[in-house]
Amino acid sequence: MKQSVKMIVGNWKMNGLSADLVEATALADSLSGSAPAARVALCPAATLIARMAWALNGRPIEIGGQDCHTAAAGAHTGSISAAMLKDAGAGLVIVGHSERRQACGETDAIVAAKFEAAVAAGLEPIVCVGETLAERETGQAVALVTVQVAASVPATAAGQAFAVAYEPVWAIGTGLTPTLEQIAEVHAAIRAALVARLGDGGHRVPILYGGSVNPGNAAEILRVAEVGGALVGGASLKADSFLAIIRAA
Ligand code: PGA
Repeated sequence: MKQSVKMIVGNWKMNGLSADLVEATALADSLSGSAPAARVALCPAATLIARMAWALNGRPIEIGGQDCHTAAAGAHTGSISAAMLKDAGAGLVIVGHSERRQACGETDAIVAAKFEAAVAAGLEPIVCVGETLAERETGQAVALVTVQVAASVPATAAGQAFAVAYEPVWAIGTGLTPTLEQIAEVHAAIRAALVARLGDGGHRVPILYGGSVNPGNAAEILRVAEVGGALVGGASLKADSFLAIIRAA
């Protein structure tokens, strides 16, 4: 069974001060007028989660973190646990974003441990996978992403609420996107990897596309087979462009 309601998630990355919460409330005001056809979430910096949760209380926008530690608590200066995100008002958390895999050396095993920490705290993980340009150009995209899914999604994930996001590293923040055929090919491979790992439950996991999604390309990308939504970076920072993407769902 496929999920029919698209999931549109904004990843603010290391952008946004308290003044930018007006973008979240403007978005909420626009969505409140007509029930959104999509499931909408914003993932601001950790410093904004509690204030955004307060500002959006009762509105149809969920809140997520951008990362969590593998441990539940303890001596990890500067880190944030999944339970802290939950306590601040988050319901989701991105794990394994390529910016963290690359800059912080996060391996698939670490991403899987973060997934388990998130689920233990009652959060819904969004697991990011995706190939580099060199891997795409040498024909390894499908094989690489298949391995990432198998190694980043714990075998215990069957029955748990989570999503996978296919984010080609070379498409993030570049204005470049794969062709619709390439997106379809990788999403089909991710679906097969999820079913191989989790059985029938693998059919129910939303698979988002991320990487230079904007109001101009969202509709066609969201219509591709097995694309269950979008993970949006730059275009999620302003209410009007994010709203246009949500409306395309
Ligand atoms: P982008 O980022 O939409 O700015 O390309 C997407 C992401 O990294 O999640």
